[in-house]
Amino acid sequence: MRDAISQWSNWSGYVTARPQAFAEPQTLDELGELVRSAPGPMRFVGTGHSFTPLVRNDGTILSLDRFEGLKAHDPEKLTARVGAGTKIGALAKLLHGVGQALPNMGDIDKQAFGGALGTATHGSGITLGAYHTQLEAMQIVDGRGEVKEFDRAKSPDMIDAMGASLGAFGAVTEVTIRNVASYRMRYRRWTAPIADVLAQFESTVTAHRSAEFYYVPFSGQALLIASDITDAPATVRPPTEDDDAVTTLRKLRDYLSWFPWLRRRLIGSAFAKVPPEDYVEEWLKVFTSERNVKFNEMEYHLPFEEGAAALGEIISLLETRFPDVYFPIEVRVVAPDNVWLSPFYKRPTCSIAIHHGVERDPMAYFNAAEPIFRKRGGRPHWGKMHSLTAKELSALYPRWNDAMAVRREMDPDNRFVTPYMARLLGVAA
Ligand SMILES: Cc1cc2nc3c(=O)[nH]c(=O)nc-3n(C[C@H](O)[C@H](O)[C@H](O)COP(=O)(O)OP(=O)(O)OC[C@H]3O[C@@H](n4cnc5c(N)ncnc54)[C@H](O)[C@@H]3O)c2cc1C
Repeated sequence: MRDAISQWSNWSGYVTARPQAFAEPQTLDELGELVRSAPGPMRFVGTGHSFTPLVRNDGTILSLDRFEGLKAHDPEKLTARVGAGTKIGALAKLLHGVGQALPNMGDIDKQAFGGALGTATHGSGITLGAYHTQLEAMQIVDGRGEVKEFDRAKSPDMIDAMGASLGAFGAVTEVTIRNVASYRMRYRRWTAPIADVLAQFESTVTAHRSAEFYYVPFSGQALLIASDITDAPATVRPPTEDDDAVTTLRKLRDYLSWFPWLRRRLIGSAFAKVPPEDYVEEWLKVFTSERNVKFNEMEYHLPFEEGAAALGEIISLLETRFPDVYFPIEVRVVAPDNVWLSPFYKRPTCSIAIHHGVERDPMAYFNAAEPIFRKRGGRPHWGKMHSLTAKELSALYPRWNDAMAVRREMDPDNRFVTPYMARLLGVAA
């Protein structure tokens, strides 16, 4: 265990902490001992890519980085046993090496797999679930430092209770995940007027295995992305220009803040001329890209049928009241699942994510947007900014009380409960 790292911060720099101790245990025994004796409370960290203060803590921050790698795999069942500290990018390469693949991926591959499970991290696809839907078994060190193993065959409820874990039940050290056989994807990207995209939203997302779109503020245009499995040979993936595009949008915002009509016209006409992209690549090179321009983010998961109307309201809010916002709005779809604290619990979902560059405080924009998401039944992404506490969250999750009962069983002494977690979970601090 190291003494305090001077300061911990999340990826965007918005959440900071000065823990008394920072530990990176190497073995289960060491981890168990730390859970029993390190300064409390204790929070686990993957790579700090969450925007909410889930990791913030002045007790001990504990990294599971050393619990990594491919431990075993079953070529018949297409399952793999992996360390929960494995980064998603490394995991993808390890799986590909044994002919397996993740069915879907999010926008980046930097997170630890355990961290992704911690907030119900997801990609896009009407039939594709979040990462936690792959869980077959998990090894977890509970609040008394005891190592426990649960598998779907014998304890389905425990997997469903802890699948979206929030780091509230214990340290997830290893998981068994169900994968699919390696595949290649045909990736297509094109632009279209937002009105057309919204009118054809359902047919577009059902026509493709994975589909999503970005609305570019003040452009009237959207960038659509759709990917489908193919047997065609791989072609060359063009270099990604996502970061350059975001920087250009910021410059246009800065130069043209007094001329909103000109900004709209310039962005709209330039955007409509963006050439389409069409290539074939192995699955692990298709879904993710680099995100080098930093931002803060709010994402709400809405009942699928509410998505288009909510997006319309968000666009109108942004374009009438927040001219300083230049980051695109991201719209994705996610399949329903049975995990009790999953925002996709038993409902097909349309997820809308809004971003604000780190150089400005995002809260005025996010606070104005949140009621639009909430009135349409949205559940917040656990790792992205929101203002909800146990009172509101418990009404959104039908199995909330059951999940909290399992949490009490796993962490009877509230070792993993910081003030933020107490508000989130409704635990007396
Ligand atoms: C640039 C960027 C792009 C993103 N893209 C997407 C996206 O496409 N889709 C999406 O859904 N989200 C996305 N996110 C959000 C991100 O995926 C989640 O916040 C994810 O939880 C971060 O993983 P992490 O390893 O950094 O976890 P952390 O932020 O470090 O931790 C998240 C939670 O998991 C817990 N935890 C971590 N490891 C363990 C463990 N081993 N055992 C128990 N608990 C643990 C922590 O205590 C905490 O509660 C993005 C974030 C950024 C910054």
